[in-house]
Amino acid sequence: MEITKVTVLGAGTMGHGIAHAAIAGGYLTRMYDVSEAAVGTGRGAIEQIVRRGVDLGKVPAADAEATLARLSATTSLGEALQDADLVIEAAPERLDLKLALFAQIEALAPASAIIGSNTSALSITELAGSLRDPSRVAGMHFFNPVHKMKLVEIIRALESAPAALEAIDEVARRMGKETVLVRESPGFITTRVNAGIGNEAFYMLMEGVASARDIDKALKLGLNHPMGPFELVDLVGLDTRLSILEYLHRSLGEKYRPCPLLAQYVKAGRLGRKVGRGVYEY
Ligand code: NAD
Repeated sequence: MEITKVTVLGAGTMGHGIAHAAIAGGYLTRMYDVSEAAVGTGRGAIEQIVRRGVDLGKVPAADAEATLARLSATTSLGEALQDADLVIEAAPERLDLKLALFAQIEALAPASAIIGSNTSALSITELAGSLRDPSRVAGMHFFNPVHKMKLVEIIRALESAPAALEAIDEVARRMGKETVLVRESPGFITTRVNAGIGNEAFYMLMEGVASARDIDKALKLGLNHPMGPFELVDLVGLDTRLSILEYLHRSLGEKYRPCPLLAQYVKAGRLGRKVGRGVYEY
């Protein structure tokens, strides 16, 4: 199936990044948000990414204008969905909210439209199961910041059709991304591995194996990780990491039991960079 029109639902951190990737990939793109302010902020952020591309010499000025001309932004869901070939959902991570949005997609978008969800952890199969035709749904998991991160994890739900997976893969590639195909499973590839490494690092810190700085240094210089696990968890948020580990522990078992030291840091309010202190002080 040939995709020419992409609709992104949500203009927040991920939504505006995905909409930017879509216009950069040549797609006529509609970005929708319930909030007028979010639409404005999202559009402004996209313009800034494109302008920076011009300043850095990555995008010719003439292309920048044409790229931005492919974007329209709206708070009307009907207008956003009416002629979409691919809908990418990047609304807040709440099952009730996403299910309500999926019902509206079913009512307002063409029945042939493919639907990709950017959910971090909810079940794509459950979202798809709410539709008459679940085969047109798959996961399309981008990384933050979208314009810098190369990967898209494509998640095959129980009933995702090969044609839907292929169409999503093609769009991701035209957005300049690399893809991997993952059978739906908690934490996909990246979140699961990352949570495991981060948890192990906390266990090592708790056991006094090494200091936080030395554990970070070892992973950066010895294993070539771009960031140490504690630098990374401070960026992600210790509370967010703890809730991911609790979810993986519930769904995948003992191996993901959150380290008690991580839980203690969260109780102490050391949530990471966003509050000025996590494993490190900022
Ligand atoms: P965000 O809070 O930055 O943005 C969400 C946007 O959705 C907001 O602008 C909000 O106004 C809007 N919104 C609220 N209700 C809506 C509705 N009914 N329809 C459409 N839009 C609605 O959140 P985010 O970080 O962009 O996350 C979006 C999704 O992407 C979540 O499922 C999240 O788990 C996933 N995700 C996030 C990251 C990340 O690093 N932030 C990475 C990968 C995946």
